[in-house]
Amino acid sequence: MSCKVRFAPSPTGRLHVGNVRTALINWLFAKGQGGQFVLRIDDTDLERSTKEYEDGIKQDLTWLGLEWDDTFKQSERFAEYDKATAKLKADGLLYACYETAEELDRKRKIALSRGRPPVYDRAGLNLTDDEKAKLEAEGRKPHWRFKLSGKPCEWVDLVRGPQAIDTASISDPVLIRADGSYLYTLPSVVDDIDAEITHVVRGEDHVTNSGAQIEIFRALGGKTPQMAHTPLLIGADGQGLSKRLGSLSVQQLAADGVEAIAIASLLAKIGTSDPVELKDSLQTLASEFSFEKIGRAPARFDEKELMALNAEITRGLSFEDVKDRLAALPLGDKANDAFWALVSENLQKVDDAAIWLPIFFGDIDKADLEADDAAFIAGAAAYLPEGEISEDTWSVWTGALKSETGRKGKGLFMPLRLALTGQAHGPQMNQVLALLGREKVLKRLG
Ligand code: GLU
Repeated sequence: MSCKVRFAPSPTGRLHVGNVRTALINWLFAKGQGGQFVLRIDDTDLERSTKEYEDGIKQDLTWLGLEWDDTFKQSERFAEYDKATAKLKADGLLYACYETAEELDRKRKIALSRGRPPVYDRAGLNLTDDEKAKLEAEGRKPHWRFKLSGKPCEWVDLVRGPQAIDTASISDPVLIRADGSYLYTLPSVVDDIDAEITHVVRGEDHVTNSGAQIEIFRALGGKTPQMAHTPLLIGADGQGLSKRLGSLSVQQLAADGVEAIAIASLLAKIGTSDPVELKDSLQTLASEFSFEKIGRAPARFDEKELMALNAEITRGLSFEDVKDRLAALPLGDKANDAFWALVSENLQKVDDAAIWLPIFFGDIDKADLEADDAAFIAGAAAYLPEGEISEDTWSVWTGALKSETGRKGKGLFMPLRLALTGQAHGPQMNQVLALLGREKVLKRLG
């Protein structure tokens, strides 16, 4: 049987590297097996979900190349959730509770103060019809909890190995709020059953959820998918990424000029037994994917590693590849093959070429040099070999300047580099000189 997975973001924000990794692992697993990748929009929280975020998430996935075979929204499926609710109620597995948030909080505190785990005491389960009628007459509306078995729920996780969640140690989960709205837990199971999802692949923050959800799968008579819970991402400093996720959104990374395949190459390999290296395509990453390679330790996301991969891609791009993107930068329409060949070696991303465009095709500010360096530059033009500048001109010229002034090494090259490019670093000066051409060189020395 071919596999079918789903990625289920809530449209309450754009995608960031954490959820992209979940999407990517789902996609790589499915495509590596010739299976299907479904995009499910978890928008049961009608207040926080927006169409803009839904569209944004689709845009982010498309940009990353993570195309979906099918997509649907939970908000279109309330009738199905209502049916499942009716079945659970009829089977005595969904029961009404009337506590307010404050009352629940008090119960939790009392349990803790007595050294007991703060597990819901199932008071709702023991209410008589009369008691319920009385509470409702007081204006209370019920919320609904699923009755867990109280036994260990076991499964063999594809990443974590054998798992056992003792359902006696967790509270019966609330599936429906007092205002009638669904929490994520039940709709997710109903959807996974109806869409015939074979593997649920998500972050390890859902492990406890899985204990409850597996019991709901069984209660609804559905086939329980295989489960895989991946460790969460941490930053290079070992800290959680939650505070920095805004700057690590796909939208922001794309705007910053990071290439999609750099993101995928990194996210597919961190926290696995494979080395992190640049891959040519998602297909290659899919062919290399296996749950067995994913370790149990958190995966370290290092932006420096991302930018190193991005620099590697940038070096490998041809002028044809980047022509349109360069054209969007000031003076970028003047860029040519020789320019790209020269500057691409030192760029972390295509847009960084913006620094070099005015240097080669426009004007730069006069370099702010020490007095003796300024005097050296003012005299340097006289030694520039006659005729058109070629890649050999630099060595002839600096040779002459060296014997004339006694300057050498950095003292010789740095003032020239600064005067001609305004930058302390950059491509090889013999090539810079040739690309600048005689007129610009003389102007900047003068
Ligand atoms: N919407 C849920 C989340 O983003 C989906 C979890 C799941 O994959 O089941 O956490």
